[in-house]
Amino acid sequence: MGLTFEVSATTPAGGRRAALRLPHGVVQTPVFMPVGTAATVKTVQQETLEHLGDDGAGAEIILANTYHLYLRPGHELIRRTGGVHRFMSWPRPMLTDSGGFQVFSLAKLRKITEDGVEFRSHLDGSKHFFSPEHSIDVQIALGADILMAFDECVETPATWERTRDSMTLTHAWAARSRAHFEAHKHEVPWAQPPGRVPHSSQRHRDEWNVVPQDLTGKHQSLFGIVQGGMYPDLRRESAERLVEMDFEGYAIGGLAVGEPREVTREMIARSLEILPKDKPRYVMGVGYPDEIEEYARMGVDMMDCVLPTRAARHGLLFRTPEPGEDGTAVRMNIKRVEYAEDQRPIDPACSCLVCRRYTRAYLRHLFVAKEPLGATLNSIHNLSFYLDIMARVRSQLAAFT
Ligand SMILES: [Zn+2]
Repeated sequence: MGLTFEVSATTPAGGRRAALRLPHGVVQTPVFMPVGTAATVKTVQQETLEHLGDDGAGAEIILANTYHLYLRPGHELIRRTGGVHRFMSWPRPMLTDSGGFQVFSLAKLRKITEDGVEFRSHLDGSKHFFSPEHSIDVQIALGADILMAFDECVETPATWERTRDSMTLTHAWAARSRAHFEAHKHEVPWAQPPGRVPHSSQRHRDEWNVVPQDLTGKHQSLFGIVQGGMYPDLRRESAERLVEMDFEGYAIGGLAVGEPREVTREMIARSLEILPKDKPRYVMGVGYPDEIEEYARMGVDMMDCVLPTRAARHGLLFRTPEPGEDGTAVRMNIKRVEYAEDQRPIDPACSCLVCRRYTRAYLRHLFVAKEPLGATLNSIHNLSFYLDIMARVRSQLAAFT
């Protein structure tokens, strides 16, 4: 079994409340997935991730980046440790991207052929090659619950012709990703009977390993990625081709790369019209608090973004609007002098671990003094804020049963 997706309520606007069952647990959707780039959600430890948010339910799924883990520490090392869940001691579901986005945005000297992409590591300049088959092999070794087909991310802006050619390549790569995945999915490290993975000691395994040991018979699920740039006709065509290939879920990629918000919204809407209603739909790399709320109401089930954690490390915090303020969130720059003696929590309406205990004055001091705890506390609040938005949307969607 890979995944099951049970929709319990749908609104006239298409928003849905559902449960996504994966080998490592159940994810209530719509969901926001914190990004754990290098097998860590930067500055936040796993125990804390499990208790984020108003309800204390924590992050039910997180994301890791294939490109980063492939380069360091290496996917074969992670395979030998039993997969990324055991490696980082994260018992809940995970998703890996295909590596494509980072190859096209971070790596140097790319050479793209029909076969794949040759690139140089942004770390040490070493030469590497990713094909759809290799990306799938790496993702099987990492062992996330959900993996993504390898895609080309076209530059922005790009002409219709250039975007169509790139999309056509992405479709060929999606078919190859699918075929390779079906032939090799049984090789995921945790699909083996328990006892195969060496542990430093029996005591360690029994007392400290929080990750389920026996997932025999369960396997990963592969999502296809809709591309098509900023062209509605190409987005529809891309969604149609991918649906013909019959993936277990569908992502919408190549958005939030600098285009106006109305364009992002339209590309999502055109894609959602085509994608099946009984499968999970994931918009990659979005967004601000008001965006994730809006897209969830349109029928997007999953989203991820580095924004809440990256902003937190730069001292940018989100809080609930007060009477007279509009929108989903108000942005606060914690380094401002006006917070130097402010005894309120970041967000008086938030009951996260940070807002229950610390003042704006203290968080400003940590930030100004460049204390690492500042980045941690800011990240915990911003992630909680994002998870609370999704919890609120889920309870509103549930009313439409
Ligand atoms: Zn908070």
